[in-house]
Amino acid sequence: MPQPEAAVSPPMPAPDELTQFFWDALKERKLMIQRCQECGHYIHWPRPLCRFCLSSELAPGEVSGRATLYSWTIATQPFHPYFVDKVPYTLATVELVEEKNLKLVSHLIECPEDEIKVDMPLEVVFQEITPELTLPFFKPATAR
Ligand SMILES: [Zn+2]
Repeated sequence: MPQPEAAVSPPMPAPDELTQFFWDALKERKLMIQRCQECGHYIHWPRPLCRFCLSSELAPGEVSGRATLYSWTIATQPFHPYFVDKVPYTLATVELVEEKNLKLVSHLIECPEDEIKVDMPLEVVFQEITPELTLPFFKPATAR
């Protein structure tokens, strides 16, 4: 009898003191983005200084999880063994509604390719990949 293959672990983030809050919040199904306490701009990825006003007064701020689609591509090649049985999938750059140009790279799910449109409204979906890793994916926003 052939042995079943061991499940392949996903590539894992390597948080540091600047980015730990982002990953911790995802486990609680919250999307937190670094925000400048001086000028109010959101900053992603987290940095030691605000790129707008150079303040170091930066703290995590929770965002709504609402976004629009900025750009997308269909990934057909698995670049890591974990993705072998997951291609094709849609890689998306989304713009969070909180601020112009506040972009996040994610996966677009629950959307057939022929329904994908730039600027379409999206909402976050938290997917627990492993007990240690929850990721923010996006799907078409439901009408409310
Ligand atoms: Zn600032």
